[in-house]
Amino acid sequence: MNILVINAGSSSLKYQLYDMTTESVLAKGRVERIGMESSILTHEVEGRADVREVSEILEHTTAVRKVLDMLTHRSFGVLESIGDIQAVGHRIVHGGESFKESVLIDADVKLEIRNLFDLAPLHNPAHMMGIQAVEANLPDVPQAVVFDTAFHQTMPATSYLYAIPKVFYRKHKVRRYGFHGTSHDYVSKQAAAFLGRPLEELKIISCHIGNGASCTAILHGKSYDTSMGMTPLEGLMMGSRSGDLDPAIVPFAINKEDLTLNEVNSMLNKHSGLMAVSGISSDMREVVEAMESGDENARLAFEMYAYRIRKYIGSYAAAMNGVDVILFTAGVGENSAVLRKRVCEGLTFLGLDFDEERNELRSSETRSITRDGSAVNVLVVPTNEELLIARDTYRLVIGKE
Ligand code: ADP
Repeated sequence: MNILVINAGSSSLKYQLYDMTTESVLAKGRVERIGMESSILTHEVEGRADVREVSEILEHTTAVRKVLDMLTHRSFGVLESIGDIQAVGHRIVHGGESFKESVLIDADVKLEIRNLFDLAPLHNPAHMMGIQAVEANLPDVPQAVVFDTAFHQTMPATSYLYAIPKVFYRKHKVRRYGFHGTSHDYVSKQAAAFLGRPLEELKIISCHIGNGASCTAILHGKSYDTSMGMTPLEGLMMGSRSGDLDPAIVPFAINKEDLTLNEVNSMLNKHSGLMAVSGISSDMREVVEAMESGDENARLAFEMYAYRIRKYIGSYAAAMNGVDVILFTAGVGENSAVLRKRVCEGLTFLGLDFDEERNELRSSETRSITRDGSAVNVLVVPTNEELLIARDTYRLVIGKE
């Protein structure tokens, strides 16, 4: 079965085509600048040169048609016809409390995703455009939706409620939802498989450290607490997001700097984090480079970033009364040995025996970076959200047949 995985944003659409018999990627790519002048489609097939096509793509339906044209193109394609796509899986950022797992799309599901627009005003409407664009191009193909929030729906109320008047939860569903759920779910399963131990026995702290970053406490296979909140702004310091801060700073900033609420929101989401503290970049590679050539602001940004990860690990070890596995994943977590070292250096009290040599090894496979016999296993686990979306879609479509 061939499954097309789609991640639709407001002006972009990423895709990966999977052959599920081997779980291999036949082709992948992205359309950028949808609705702007000169949209760009980049198409990649392993072993071939990348294809880059510039054209005018005004909306998502055309973007999906261009992707399908590319997948079936005589020279660049990998399929005979679009009839060779048996199902489509979509990534959806917010499933609210309505979606505790992935589901096949029907009219009710679409209505419910619409009802959640308020909770994710930037993301969910764009995902809906992606769903409709696929419907218009492939009307008979089943589609599934996989939610970033669903994995965290197992959190107890002690983790997900905010200590504010209950009316906000009752009327407006203000609570912690958490994100990166697809990734935390995937990497925790990979970790258990790597260790050859049942997931149900393990206490795992999963650190997804990319541009956006979150830590999750996974108790016996289920999300118990997570650092992102009602929105992805809470928790760790990120590339351009502040993470945790005293909420009283918001009215203070509005008064002192004569800012609007929108300006403060944009400051906290787009102009804070690594970017603001280093004054250099939101990209960890550039911050580390500057730090290594002696830039003090870059060093401070790096230290704050690592310190906050360590604090969350400590608090989640307390929350679960122990930890067996700490894992690092996503762009920074998988690639930055210096960050992993800085985080782990302060965790010897957990019985963690860090292995510097293993930490420096480069590999695209799951691996341990602690010494054999360490009381806590620290792993680097490459994430693969698209594969989990493809697997869930496959399971749902097969289950229905
Ligand atoms: P997103 O949240 O956008 O999916 P990714 O998981 O792709 O992000 O992570 C992107 C981040 O990974 C970038 O900010 C980049 O700084 C970081 N990154 C990638 N490679 C390295 C590296 N070798 N060292 C440090 N950081 C890296």
